[in-house]
Amino acid sequence: MRQTDIAIVGAGPAGLMAAIQAAEMGAQVLLLERANELGGQLIKQTHKFFGSREEYAGERGFEIAHKLMDQLVQLSNVTVWKNATALGYYPDGVLSVKQGNSFCLVKPKKLIVATGASEKTLAFPNNDLPGIYGAGAVQTLMNVYGVKPADRVLMVGAGNIGVIVAYQLLQAGVEVAAIIEAAPKIGAYWVHASKIQRCGVPILTGHTIKKAYGTDRLSGVTVCRLDEKWNQIPGTEQDFAVDGLCLAVGLSPLTELLWQAGCKMEFVPELGGYVPWRNADLLTTHHNIYVAGDVAGVEEASAAMVEGKLAGLAAAFALRYQSENFAALYHEAKSQLNALRSAPVSAKVCNGLCKVMLGEAV
Ligand SMILES: Cc1cc2nc3c(=O)[nH]c(=O)nc-3n(C[C@H](O)[C@H](O)[C@H](O)COP(=O)(O)OP(=O)(O)OC[C@H]3O[C@@H](n4cnc5c(N)ncnc54)[C@H](O)[C@@H]3O)c2cc1C
Repeated sequence: MRQTDIAIVGAGPAGLMAAIQAAEMGAQVLLLERANELGGQLIKQTHKFFGSREEYAGERGFEIAHKLMDQLVQLSNVTVWKNATALGYYPDGVLSVKQGNSFCLVKPKKLIVATGASEKTLAFPNNDLPGIYGAGAVQTLMNVYGVKPADRVLMVGAGNIGVIVAYQLLQAGVEVAAIIEAAPKIGAYWVHASKIQRCGVPILTGHTIKKAYGTDRLSGVTVCRLDEKWNQIPGTEQDFAVDGLCLAVGLSPLTELLWQAGCKMEFVPELGGYVPWRNADLLTTHHNIYVAGDVAGVEEASAAMVEGKLAGLAAAFALRYQSENFAALYHEAKSQLNALRSAPVSAKVCNGLCKVMLGEAV
C-alpha cells in the first residue's frame, strides 16, 4: 500500500497545476496519468490559445504543457506514474491503480480528481462505420501520431473545437467539404469562424446528419436542414462524398471515480452533464476529494489551470501545509477565475456553476 499526502488523478492542465501548487506548499504528491505522456488535451493542441496572458494566451497548447512539465520536474516531492489508470476509490480511502499489467493500491490523505472529459457522439444510421471519428481522436491522430485521418472530411459542430480542428485538417492537407451545425448560430469565436470561411469552407447552420453510408468504410453522408423546432425538413437532403466524418458535438465530464466515492452529483447541461457539487475551493461533498478542470464542468484549459491551482492549494492547506505566500496565491487564483468567467461567453458556465455550488471554503 503506497501512502501519500495527495494523489492527483489526471495530468492535464488541471492535474499538472494542482500537483505543482500542492508540492510547492510542501505536500508529498503522487500524480497518476493513464496515458504515456503528460499534458492531457494540451499535447495535441497546435493552435495558439485564447484566454488571458496569466494562463498563457497566445502560446500553443503543447508548448503550455511543456512549460508546466518543466516546473513539475523541479519539484522533488512529486512522484509521477505514467500509464497508470485509477480504477476505483473505496470507502476506506484506498485508490486502486492499474499500471501496465500490475495493480497497486494507494492510500492518499487527500485526492484531487482531474480526469477531464470524454467526447459525445450522435445517433444516426451507420454511425459505426470506419472513418467516423470524434474531433479529439482526429487531433490525436494528426497532431500526436502524424497520421492523416482521411482525404475529404465533413465536420459536425461549429463550436470552437469543430472550427479549430477543421482548420488543423486543412493544415494537414485534408479537404474539408463543409462544417454543419444544428443550431441556428455559429458557436465558435468569430476569429476562428471567419478564418475557416476565408479558406473556402462553408458553415451550414440549421443542418444535421440524416445518415452515413458505405460498405466496409465511410463513403458519404446525407445531411438535411432543420426547422425552428429542430425537426428534419423532408426534401432538403444533400449528399457529401467524404471518407471522413468528424463529430465535434461536445464533451461529458469523466466522473466515474466521483460516483463511486459517493460524491453528490447533479445533471447540469451548461457544464456538459453530471458534475459534482463543490465549494469554492473545489472540495466535493466527500471530505477528502477535490476536483479541478473539465471533470468539474466542461470549460477551457485556462479555467482548468486556475482550478487546479486552487484545488492544490486548498488540499495542501487542509493537511496543514503552509507557505508564507499562501494567502496571496489563494486570492490571486480566485480573482483569476472570476476574471476568466466575467466575459459574456462564460455566462452559460456561470449559470451552471450556481446550480452545484456549496458554501464554506478555506
Ligand atoms: C480542439 C480543442 C481546442 C481547444 N482550445 C482551447 C483554447 O484555445 N484555450 C483553452 O483554454 N482551452 C481550449 N480547449 C479546452 C481544453 O483543452 C480543456 O478544457 C482542458 O484540456 C481541460 O483540462 P483537464 O486537465 O481538466 O482535462 P484533460 O486535458 O482532458 O486531462 C485529463 C487527463 O486525465 C487523464 N485521465 C482520465 N481518467 C483517468 C484515470 N482514471 N486515471 C488516470 N488518468 C486519467 C487523461 O488521460 C488526461 O490526460 C480546447 C479543447 C479542444 C478539444
